[in-house]
Amino acid sequence: MKPIRIVTPPLGANVYLLIDENISIIDAGGDSAFLIKALSRYVNPKEVEYVFLTHSHFDHAMAVPDLKKLGCKVVMHSLEFDLLKKGLTTLGYIYHFEPDVLVRGGERFDLGEIELEVIHTPGHTSGSVCYYEPRRKWLFSGDTVFKYGFGRYDLPSGNPYDLLKSLELLSNLEVENLYPGHEDFVEGNAKRYILKNLEVLKSVI
Ligand SMILES: [Zn+2]
Repeated sequence: MKPIRIVTPPLGANVYLLIDENISIIDAGGDSAFLIKALSRYVNPKEVEYVFLTHSHFDHAMAVPDLKKLGCKVVMHSLEFDLLKKGLTTLGYIYHFEPDVLVRGGERFDLGEIELEVIHTPGHTSGSVCYYEPRRKWLFSGDTVFKYGFGRYDLPSGNPYDLLKSLELLSNLEVENLYPGHEDFVEGNAKRYILKNLEVLKSVI
């Protein structure tokens, strides 16, 4: 089973649906009505066990409060929750939620066939994470790195040098498939995009 991508309004953030023993999604997008309707084409949205947030910007996380009402558990980095509490990642929108599982990096979640490892990758926000599937070599990279380019580092808690270290960390992984938070994903030989984007970032900071 490969991840199912759902492109969500308002900014086209990618949500990835993982249909396994524990049904999960990576990120939630900004429009809960849209997402719940889209999910229901594949699963009963009430059966979504986990929402794994890469970070808490509104285009990735504003749908979370409504999803929590359906009973899912929300996973996010503890630093990211601190930013959310201070309103530093909502970027003018109003939403709040309490995560169910706070992570710091290194945790592993067994979803059945799929396993996700948390990798702390600050830079886009200080609490950004990527999720890595070690057997399949999949990387869910949020707004840390895309097929072409990398996340902004000029928003609150962003830092270009942290982002550089994070891309260096990711470039040490074997990545076959890259599933970023925006735009195209890559299936097959995806590591080259991370290496290329690391070189670009080095050249601009
Ligand atoms: Zn973002």
